[in-house]
Amino acid sequence: MRTKITTAVQTGKILISDGAWGTFLHQKGLQSGECPELWNITHPDKVKEIAQSYIDAGSDMIETNSFGGTSFKLEYFGLADRVSEINEAAARISREAAGENKWVIGSIGPTGKMLVMGDVTEVELYEAFKTQAIALEKGGADAVCIETMSDIDEASLAIQATKENTKLEIIATFTFEATGENQFYTMMGVTPGDAAIAAVQAGANIIGANCGNGLKNMITIVSQMREVDENTPILVHANAGLPKVENGKTVYPETPEMMGELTGQIIQAGANIIGGCCGTTPEHIRVMKASI
Ligand SMILES: [Zn+2]
Repeated sequence: MRTKITTAVQTGKILISDGAWGTFLHQKGLQSGECPELWNITHPDKVKEIAQSYIDAGSDMIETNSFGGTSFKLEYFGLADRVSEINEAAARISREAAGENKWVIGSIGPTGKMLVMGDVTEVELYEAFKTQAIALEKGGADAVCIETMSDIDEASLAIQATKENTKLEIIATFTFEATGENQFYTMMGVTPGDAAIAAVQAGANIIGANCGNGLKNMITIVSQMREVDENTPILVHANAGLPKVENGKTVYPETPEMMGELTGQIIQAGANIIGGCCGTTPEHIRVMKASI
């Protein structure tokens, strides 16, 4: 049976998360312009194959196909009234693949709405995250993975909405871009240190970074988070480098071996949970797992 993720981390164990979902869904036939999350209802078998392939690769935890599962994202496809159904299905599918011994971390991505621009109110964001988190818990998730965040206020509302309405553990990761030597900021101008402090203050149990431009930069990002927070577990979901278009196809430059070689350094920098984001495959996960 499963303990809490944070309890497992406290024993000193390095945990392995999963790799990309978005790129994998496209490989399975998702067309651009289609709603990825609707596949939980229309193609549950395909979604489960992705989840299963990460479990088979050795992931200790897998995400859910619910990154764009808030009402604000689903609204774009005319599906805003199906948030609960779609997210519950997402969690159920990943739980089926994970069984009773692996963790399911329910993906929650940004809403695409900007508080600073007055697109939405804090109450509207809170309510959207609340509905999604409750559905993920109902479908069998152990945690939420609030990810690709760039705005502290939006991330904090997602954290609070989860904390106040579910029993789920809370992972919160931000996406940083390199703006200079050892200098990283989110799109909204937040440093790794400030993101870490704000996420913990809002109630996150696990903090970290995802996406971005490769595992190497993550080493610095993790160190900068560790400088301000010695104890909170850190999760890293790195892209397989910065995507390039070659012959009309998007390719990611970092091979499983390249990412495997950097895994030791990222652990040394203070990461406790390692996985991948865009462009990473079950093979990346397998090699990273083997290298720890
Ligand atoms: Zn990514």
